[in-house]
Amino acid sequence: MTPARDLIIIGSGPSGYTAALYAARANLKPLVIEGVQSGGALMTTTEVENFPGHRDGIMGPELMDNMRAQAEKFGAEFLTDDVTRVELGDRPTEAGTEGLKTVWVGEKEYFARAVILSTGSAWRPIGIPGEQELLGHGVSSCATCDGFFFRNQHIIVVGGGDSAMEEATFLTRFAETVTIVHRRDAFRASKVMQVRALTNPKIKVEWNSAVEEVLGDDGKVAGARIKNLQTGETKVLDVTGVFVAIGHDPRSELFKGQVELDDEGYVKVDSPSTRTNIAGVFAAGDLVDHTYRQAITASGTGCAAALDAERFIASFL
Ligand code: FAD
Repeated sequence: MTPARDLIIIGSGPSGYTAALYAARANLKPLVIEGVQSGGALMTTTEVENFPGHRDGIMGPELMDNMRAQAEKFGAEFLTDDVTRVELGDRPTEAGTEGLKTVWVGEKEYFARAVILSTGSAWRPIGIPGEQELLGHGVSSCATCDGFFFRNQHIIVVGGGDSAMEEATFLTRFAETVTIVHRRDAFRASKVMQVRALTNPKIKVEWNSAVEEVLGDDGKVAGARIKNLQTGETKVLDVTGVFVAIGHDPRSELFKGQVELDDEGYVKVDSPSTRTNIAGVFAAGDLVDHTYRQAITASGTGCAAALDAERFIASFL
């Protein structure tokens, strides 16, 4: 049996690394099981211009390396592997494991008094040619993050829900035109969001249409081929940006049946704390966040989770 720890953190995005920094500085010697793809969502992007403290911006992977090194400096330990199973209720039966949570990486068991869940969420891709290849070079899943790069350009937003309406409306602050491409003849979004988008003079809609391919030129988006699903007609839209807004899926599969999830699979917390419905289990970052999904908000709740865990652990002393 591996020796029991005070704290295990699952996930290594801004929320996991910030939790690790705070917990390490509180002398909890956290183990961060960071996933095979360590560093989280920002490892897949180029310049981050909105993380405070970096006046000239910073590349996503560099920001994450810095966060990891800062936590390591204060004693956080890292395991670059995926958690495969968890038992988040206390283990009452086996001698030596009472009151502990168990986390498995393959066959190996790790024990801790408290666990922070910070496995993030994944944006739902359309799954078309050009989408992954041009991600970060004109294809984006986040208007707040990337809108600024599209000043005076022509762009499309794919989707028909509240997020798509919000992103399209927000993007009109920068773009020359925003075309919403939607599969059906009506939006799913709430009435108020639809009206806001549809009355914006910069927004057009391609109804009953799907994007079939993102076209690139010199490594950047240079157009999008769309198909009208009723007529079968295809055409190329002359755009330099493609914002995919068809949804996000929280990575909560591992925790299903253990902590309480909401209807969309996000981990429920006793807000404004990071406490889940299980004592000693805390959750942070995009795994709980429908709304903001930013690096700084993930870091903020990661900090809160470490402070909540610290208080919980102190109650045993
Ligand atoms: P994530 O960063 O998603 O990290 C989750 C971690 O959990 C990953 O390391 C993953 O490997 C790990 N994990 C998952 N499953 C397991 C498992 N079973 N075991 C162990 N580990 C696991 N935000 C901004 O503020 N500014 C930007 O400019 C910006 N640009 C972005 C560009 C792109 C392309 C994307 C996709 C997002 C961008 N965002 C930006 C959003 C930002 O990246 C996220 O809001 C933030 O990373 C969320 O942090 P997180 O810690 O909750 O999760």
